[in-house]
Amino acid sequence: MDEFELIRSFWAPLGDVSGAPGIQLGIGDDCAVLDVPQGMELVQSVDTLVESVHFLPEIAPRDLGWRALAVNLSDLAAAGAQPWCFSLAISLPDLDPQWLREFSGGLAELAAQYAIPLVGGDTTRGPCVISIIVQGLVPKGTALRRKGARPGDRIFVSGTLGDAGGALDWLQVEKPPADVGFLLDRYHRPTPRIALGQWLRGRASACIDISDGLSADLGHILASSGVGANLDSRSIPLSPTLRDTVGSDALSLALTAGDDYELCFTWPADQAMPEDMRERFGVDVAPVGEVVAGSGLSVDGKEWAAQGYDHFKRQK
Ligand code: ADP
Ligand code: MG
Repeated sequence: MDEFELIRSFWAPLGDVSGAPGIQLGIGDDCAVLDVPQGMELVQSVDTLVESVHFLPEIAPRDLGWRALAVNLSDLAAAGAQPWCFSLAISLPDLDPQWLREFSGGLAELAAQYAIPLVGGDTTRGPCVISIIVQGLVPKGTALRRKGARPGDRIFVSGTLGDAGGALDWLQVEKPPADVGFLLDRYHRPTPRIALGQWLRGRASACIDISDGLSADLGHILASSGVGANLDSRSIPLSPTLRDTVGSDALSLALTAGDDYELCFTWPADQAMPEDMRERFGVDVAPVGEVVAGSGLSVDGKEWAAQGYDHFKRQK
């Protein structure tokens, strides 16, 4: 199998653009051609997954395909964008058709949920590195940002936090206990909160997706918005499985562990939150604290020293 057969066999099947509005040209030419619909803005993000940094070599390729796209779609969710299309730059040490079939199958599974075509990419030989660029659309001027939180706003998060962090110790265990399956699933198959993000446009004052832990990512909202916040630790949503498996470490995982891909957003104090969020969006949202004047994060009134994940931070 050569590079072109590979493209034909594994990438082109994900590239049907006939149902995607405005996509004039996809896989097969030098460039994709995208016509942004009138009145809309293009919202774009790229994320790279490096083997042994972002995933272990043992990961099931189908999960890897899903996860690579999910973490990118999560950025679109945070902006409130409707997913439109994506591109894939992948470097692989060898050409393993079985691996490629599984990987592209995982990608296709999630792409089909949002009917987004793969419109192009690049395939090279090298260490296993996967970069995905996602493109989304929002009505002009409405994309959600990290900036915009105001003192008095309430802070909400979707879903439960810390689950993916709770899975880390189990990733290399051959037969993990059955109840850990939920945590592993949360790590391998994060759910981008696309519908929730779109609904938050024009409603939330600021939004971010939680990829590096609540304290670090909320910290970005605070820094961008020029405000501070206080979190109430008892209201941070923790799954029963996480509590059962890690006990009293659950809260610290929720605050500092990454990979949950839930949304954290700020919400004007004078607006009520609908009761039926779970029915509408398939996930609960929970108030976890309040934005205050000033700067920095407190938890239960005590100042919090930042400790999210930073690739370039020196390990002591
Ligand atoms: P070029 O040499 O012009 O950059 P390539 O030979 O790299 O083009 O790729 C041929 C076509 O296949 C292009 O349309 C490219 O977008 C597509 N393609 C290559 N690799 C991928 C990939 N990993 N995912 C999606 N499309 C890809
Ligand atoms: Mg070319």
